[in-house]
Amino acid sequence: MKLILLGPPGAGKGTQAQYLQNKLSIAKLSTGDMLRAAVASGSELGNKAKDIMASGGLVPDDLVVDLIRNRIKQPDCANGFILDGFPRTLGQAEALDKMLKDQAMEIDFVIELKVDDAELTQRISGRYSCEKCGSGYHDNFKQPKAEGVCDECGSEKFTRRADDKAETVAERLKTYHKQTAPLLPYYKGHGVLVSVDGMAEIAEVTRQIDDIIKTKEKII
Ligand code: AMP
Repeated sequence: MKLILLGPPGAGKGTQAQYLQNKLSIAKLSTGDMLRAAVASGSELGNKAKDIMASGGLVPDDLVVDLIRNRIKQPDCANGFILDGFPRTLGQAEALDKMLKDQAMEIDFVIELKVDDAELTQRISGRYSCEKCGSGYHDNFKQPKAEGVCDECGSEKFTRRADDKAETVAERLKTYHKQTAPLLPYYKGHGVLVSVDGMAEIAEVTRQIDDIIKTKEKII
């Protein structure tokens, strides 16, 4: 199964990608995670991406396309993968089409998570995660059961993304509407777009995604 999760920042792509990775035992490819790792390692790519990410803009297409091109050739992608945060521009989508065609692969579904901007801003500006295991929390919606202690691994260290600040969030949403939303009609035209209500509870969003995937499993 080859899936793309498409939606604005804070729509829940990462959460659902994690679920799908476990359920389908396929690779999860998040360009945001790859770029954050590059920034943390101080690599050449990281140095190029750092300021752009901090400002809420998009890293140039050729850099992220190269990341994905190299990644989908790895053996763990042979059975399929979930793309989280890629493609984000029409140029990236066209480059992806070409690289998949070259490998005789095609996308099964592009799953759009629909969430309105007011909700996104609220979700993003309060979120943080465990530094050790990555479990996600939120100032208003999901505090750890014991204050300051991760429910999953017991760590007491938490972190907030540098680009989750209110000013940057507004810029990231603008970037999404201008550069990424045009992918919706693009994939609709390719007959692979399906939309789910990303405003629903996490479990309900997961249920809707499960239903979509089942339609393919029935055909196979
Ligand atoms: P994310 O974790 O997906 O929200 O990505 C965090 C930031 O990384 C974005 O705001 C962009 O600056 C950069 N980024 C991630 N994926 C891409 C992509 N496909 N194209 C360009 N920039 C990206």
